[in-house]
Amino acid sequence: MSQTADTLFSKIIRRELPSEIIYEDNLAIAFKDINPQAPVHILVVPKTVIPQLSDAESQDHALMGHLLLTVKRVAAQVGLTNGYRVVINNGEDGGQTVPHLHLHILGGRFLKWPPG
Ligand code: IMP
Repeated sequence: MSQTADTLFSKIIRRELPSEIIYEDNLAIAFKDINPQAPVHILVVPKTVIPQLSDAESQDHALMGHLLLTVKRVAAQVGLTNGYRVVINNGEDGGQTVPHLHLHILGGRFLKWPPG
């Protein structure tokens, strides 16, 4: 799918919707989740629209690695020195609500396991 596909997160990337941006580069953006589930809750989103993880292709290999390294970078930037959780909700049973791949960074408190 193209970089200009019209998802909620594409509108944030294009600055058509407000957000609290934490980090941005040519491939990805990170901004605060509007409904935080932990003291720190940030979404890392590729600028190219891949609807969900199960749509990623081998050509997305480098981008997938970049997203994980962006998680690490952002977590360090916001001071999550005591650990954090990374979540990708995939599809309906995974609880995904926005059809634009995103990685949740959750931290700032102890996170129980398993999630609901
Ligand atoms: P999902 O359930 O994994 O698809 O996560 C979507 C996330 O996007 C949820 O945690 C929402 O709170 C978050 N969200 C929805 N709209 C916005 C917004 O406009 N700004 C920031 N986060 C949003």
